[in-house]
Amino acid sequence: MAKCTSCGVREAFYFRAYSGEKLCTKCFIESIERKVRATIAKYKMLSFDDRVAVALSGGKDSVSLLHILVRIEKDFPRASLCAITVDEGIEGYRDEAVKIASENCRALGVEHHIISFKELYGYTLDEIVKRIKDAKRGLTPCSYCGVLRRKALNVLARRVSATKIAMANNLDDEVQTFMLNIMHGDVMRIFRSGPAFNEEIEGLVPRVKPLCEVLEREVALYAYLKGVRFQENPCPYASEALRNDIRNMLNRLEEKHPGTKYTIFRSAEKIRGKIIEKKPEVNLRRCKICGEITVGDICQACKLLQDL
Ligand code: SF4
Ligand code: ZN
Ligand code: ZN
Repeated sequence: MAKCTSCGVREAFYFRAYSGEKLCTKCFIESIERKVRATIAKYKMLSFDDRVAVALSGGKDSVSLLHILVRIEKDFPRASLCAITVDEGIEGYRDEAVKIASENCRALGVEHHIISFKELYGYTLDEIVKRIKDAKRGLTPCSYCGVLRRKALNVLARRVSATKIAMANNLDDEVQTFMLNIMHGDVMRIFRSGPAFNEEIEGLVPRVKPLCEVLEREVALYAYLKGVRFQENPCPYASEALRNDIRNMLNRLEEKHPGTKYTIFRSAEKIRGKIIEKKPEVNLRRCKICGEITVGDICQACKLLQDL
């Protein structure tokens, strides 16, 4: 490949099809960190004195995010960073990921906090899966895992006095979720997802997604170039068939028409903006069982656990 189009000095190793840039490793790494900084500024994700908890699963996205935020933290001298991990209790998978997450935190000098499903709910995900199988319930392990993890992250973030949770969703995740919501006809979810949910709601730690404008393959490349260790095996319960179809379709489109994912992301942003203008009423209250913030009387997590 030719010379890097950014520095003009070193050999390029990567062609960024959507922008036409050819980048050397150094300029590529810098471009990712620059992009994350720009995303944080554009969506006003962080304030100068935030205590940011990185939701660290141990996968490539969250570990990369931690590494990037440790570098960016220097721009926010009064902010502090920690990492929070939810151990769902998936034998042979999450236990390894938790170990990798801890190793990364130790190497970076970041404090690490862990909460488990067992501690919070009384069951590991493995135990829940066994119960739903025995009871022949239609929900997938991911439906339980997603809802219960969301609550666990919020509980742990509050416990460690975090003022923001940094989620590691990349551009591909965000675009897939948008398409899924369209396919499920769930317009309100389009409003609630998005790069930054910064509304001040007591009891709910705001979530931000600093990687939301970075392509998944570029996050993976960043992790590889930085020699970051992460969990590579897929979860044994991974089953989201429709999301996989959407992922494959989007990858094919991106290959043929570079920039497609960004265009869809921008469209989602415009639609979200229009929904927000209408100021939809969302009636939030405390769950009657656990006290977490929810839209109904009982939160989704407690409902699922009751049905067990
Ligand atoms: Fe949980 Fe499903 Fe992800 Fe596995 S694939 S960690 S079950 S959400
Ligand atoms: Zn260069
Ligand atoms: Zn509840």
